[in-house]
Amino acid sequence: MGSTAMAETEERRVNGTLIWYYYVCKREVWLIAHNISADQDNEFLDVGRFIHENSYKRDRKEINVGNVKLDVLQRDEGQWVVGEVKKSSKYVLSAKMQLLYYLWILKEMGIDVKGELLFPEEKKRVEVLADEESLKELKRAEEDIVRIINQSMPPVAQRIPFCKNCAYLEFCWA
Ligand code: SF4
Repeated sequence: MGSTAMAETEERRVNGTLIWYYYVCKREVWLIAHNISADQDNEFLDVGRFIHENSYKRDRKEINVGNVKLDVLQRDEGQWVVGEVKKSSKYVLSAKMQLLYYLWILKEMGIDVKGELLFPEEKKRVEVLADEESLKELKRAEEDIVRIINQSMPPVAQRIPFCKNCAYLEFCWA
């Protein structure tokens, strides 16, 4: 994101969570950004929390960079990587773009680390690299997220497979 992507005050309203949802449901981006309450008893959220809290506990640190919380892990060879633990690889594009967003924040701070997506249930690990192409896509997404959340109404609900696991299921479809 360099010195320009994060420069605008408005763009600072974008965060890793919004980046993740942007690639799944743009309506949800708006609902989260506008603090619309979701169903906190949602089973999907609980499963996600459990996996996050119980996997990769060894060699794992959680650090805050501004308002961003990152999992930093140490590999056997002593190299540090930023790892994001995810429930499944089903939404791998969202996970990848979210991690790239974090990697670029660190790059701006002069910290060049590798990224890894971790899918403990599938015992899978995917390497993520912050290159110029990914930066271009990230900038585009950030601008579009700002456009979406500045709208007075959320985008119209559209049925997608994710809806059945979404904390806004009742809000959108009751
Ligand atoms: S229920 Fe579906 S349409 Fe509504 S926010 Fe969730 S994913 Fe989007």
